[in-house]
Amino acid sequence: MIFFYKLKTWIARFMEGRYGPDQFGIFTLIAGLVLSVLSGFIGLPVLGLLGTSLYIYTLFRLFSRNRSKRIAENQKYLSLSSDTKTKARQFVLRQKNRKEYRYFRCPQCKVLLRMKRGTGEKEITCAKCQHQFRQKA
Ligand SMILES: [Zn+2]
Repeated sequence: MIFFYKLKTWIARFMEGRYGPDQFGIFTLIAGLVLSVLSGFIGLPVLGLLGTSLYIYTLFRLFSRNRSKRIAENQKYLSLSSDTKTKARQFVLRQKNRKEYRYFRCPQCKVLLRMKRGTGEKEITCAKCQHQFRQKA
């Protein structure tokens, strides 16, 4: 029992001031695992090397003492992954509704707009930038 207590305090002392796990760390760990397994299946050693590099990078971030830099990396990862999820969700919705709506982009701000099909050509005002243009449905 005293051994585990000593181990626990040693780990606690070792981790003091170090960054620890976060969402980006879990992502790099899983990505490393996927690449390693894939490398075994396909027989591409480059993927295994990439997977191992991701493990090392995960450990580096886990034990890093530069907390502010690690937090910034995690924030960047979180915003990028939520952007990707939103784009994927919008793509699925577009595929589902494409018979009913015509999708197009505003020529000025490139935001995605939609218009019910079969309504003919109309004057459109962009909801985001108020740019006006003609669009056929
Ligand atoms: Zn616009």
